[in-house]
Amino acid sequence: MQRNCLFIVISDNADLTHSLTIVRVALDVPLHRCFDYLAPEATPADVGRRVRVPFGRRSVIGVIVELPEHSDFLPAQLKPVEEILPEPVLPAAWFRLARFCASYYQAPLGEVMLSTLPAGLRRIAPPKARQPKPPKTLPQPSPSPELTQEQVVALETIRAGGTGFQPYLLFGVTGSGKTEVYLQLLADVLQAGGQALLLVPEINLTPQLEGRIAARFPAAGMVSLHSELTEAARLRNWKAAASGSARIVLGTRLAVFTPMPDLALIIVDEEHDPSFKQQDGMRYSARDVAVFRAHDGKVPIVLGSATPSLESWANATAPEMRNRYKLLTLKARAVDQSRLPAVQRIDLRREKTEEGLSGILLEAIEKRLARGEQSLVFLNRRGYAPVLACTACGWISNCKRCAANLVLHMADKRLRCHHCGFEQRVPRTCPTCGNQDIHPFGRGTQRLEEYLAEKFPKARILRADRDVAKSRKQWEALVEKIHAGEADILVGTQMLAKGHDFPKLTLVGVVGADAALFAADCRAPERLFAQLMQVAGRAGRAALPGEVLIQTQYPDHPLYAAIVAHDYAAFAATQLAERKMAGFPPYSYQAMLRAEAPQMADAIAFLATARAWPEIEHYPAITLYDAVPMRMARLANLERGQLLIECASRPALQAFLSVWREAIEGIKAPSRLRWHLEVDPLEF
Ligand code: ADP
Ligand code: ZN
Ligand code: ZN
Repeated sequence: MQRNCLFIVISDNADLTHSLTIVRVALDVPLHRCFDYLAPEATPADVGRRVRVPFGRRSVIGVIVELPEHSDFLPAQLKPVEEILPEPVLPAAWFRLARFCASYYQAPLGEVMLSTLPAGLRRIAPPKARQPKPPKTLPQPSPSPELTQEQVVALETIRAGGTGFQPYLLFGVTGSGKTEVYLQLLADVLQAGGQALLLVPEINLTPQLEGRIAARFPAAGMVSLHSELTEAARLRNWKAAASGSARIVLGTRLAVFTPMPDLALIIVDEEHDPSFKQQDGMRYSARDVAVFRAHDGKVPIVLGSATPSLESWANATAPEMRNRYKLLTLKARAVDQSRLPAVQRIDLRREKTEEGLSGILLEAIEKRLARGEQSLVFLNRRGYAPVLACTACGWISNCKRCAANLVLHMADKRLRCHHCGFEQRVPRTCPTCGNQDIHPFGRGTQRLEEYLAEKFPKARILRADRDVAKSRKQWEALVEKIHAGEADILVGTQMLAKGHDFPKLTLVGVVGADAALFAADCRAPERLFAQLMQVAGRAGRAALPGEVLIQTQYPDHPLYAAIVAHDYAAFAATQLAERKMAGFPPYSYQAMLRAEAPQMADAIAFLATARAWPEIEHYPAITLYDAVPMRMARLANLERGQLLIECASRPALQAFLSVWREAIEGIKAPSRLRWHLEVDPLEF
């Protein structure tokens, strides 16, 4: 990020006849400082109110963070505020959260504050809010089932832990009844007059949960907060949470910043999910922020997952982490007829395939068709084929803007870059040599769908990926169709793997998963494991037993062995042992400095300058790795480099980063170079 636009607001017409009350205002600018203005009418009660102030030639919205006695500027240099906006008043807990994020993630306080408010509060002219009309008569609450023994133990443990800060890791396979535990906890909180915050990784997961919560607690005024709400709806829901009228808040990562005056419990469902990590602006982890918030607010926090992040797993089980989290385990599925699916590996070194599908898998699908059950073929790659190529001259369809291939989409005959969005028509002939014989290589969901339609002409086939379900509405319609039994075979990406109960689905075929086994990213196995467990969890959730077939060239790989045994603990133990040997998180703490520029040499030179910072000798605990190009070195015409920072101590890393960041801000760089620091990076 460019940070060289410092300027000072100078005004010679400040009216000195008023008293000189100064307000310090946080503004949404990429500078690590706040701005002083004059506000004769301001009182300490205005801290936390928004203000409209002149900034450059514009008027902008900021937040009053304090009323300082003195300013570094002369009164005559300060401009008066234009307006103090009466409501809402942002509470002290919200300030602490914003300050924590600013310091932990090395982000400017003003950016943190303004970017985490709903857009409607950042605008000079806010959207007209319609009133939230409550239904006249509330429906009867749906009853809760009798709890399983494991659910009772989990609940009693959490209840015995009291109302103060304590993190719990609720570890249970899909269908083991974690959500039911959340609902019981919500009931406790409502009973005691508290508010609860429930975070989920994706909008797609909210409708089902929304339905379940609303049915159980019709009077709780539950609101949801996610990016597909209209600006007005989002503002309305945010206000309902902040005023305390909504007792339950269900949301995606940004919802972690919602003020809640009576907050008594935080739940993070699917806590391992990478979607909790914000990938631009302030790169925060909503799960980690939630843990800080629970600590700061002195409330319990429950992290739930079938495949916890290794960080959380270590916090709950590794002796060196002193059991910071309490581990609660649900081993069995809650409904007794539904057993865990039988998982088998199909050895592709022995089996022949047709369009990538083995005879065994095709037969298994056929059986399901005959029985009127559903099958899911899971392939985590959308499009028709990942690349189009000419066998005569070696041309391949690559993106001119990125170090990536253009993916062939047959449905609308386009080549698309999945990274920068660039697209073009599919050429009829090779653009280099004119050869008419150009071929798609590899396969994506569209190609499987096409093949399955030929192979099983009577079957109703439904593809579920981001190309067919672009919005939440489309997604809901699709899920509806699957539920209504309007599909015999589903072909889908990980979109379909998460959080859905399809009672007739009894077979899951996993295709093309091997690629992730040997990826350069040390977190790839963790993600693959989570994905496979999740997709396996789709099979056989009701009375029908489920079967999972994994096609692989590496049937002996320990990751697959752990999946077959449904043994997350064994998998996590091997991963943690490897991480410990390598000194990787959670056994160390990391940050990443990234730079992007039209020329790679500029990006690398910038990082090298940052690395050569002379003061580094005062920070012996810090390891700075070499500046290197990123794995995907070019994105949208920018060359990208990175530099990894590692340290065994989190406080030592934090202390270093805040000083080093200031030094980096002083580096002279080409005007088109952008840089940012990411703390606890997930991608390498
Ligand atoms: P998870 O969140 O772990 O995937 P859920 O809480 O959604 O599990 O439970 C899976 C299914 O089992 C749901 O249909 C739920 O209604 C049902 N269920 C959960 N707990 C019980 C219980 N104690 N008795 C009967 N059914 C239950
Ligand atoms: Zn060619
Ligand atoms: Zn591209």
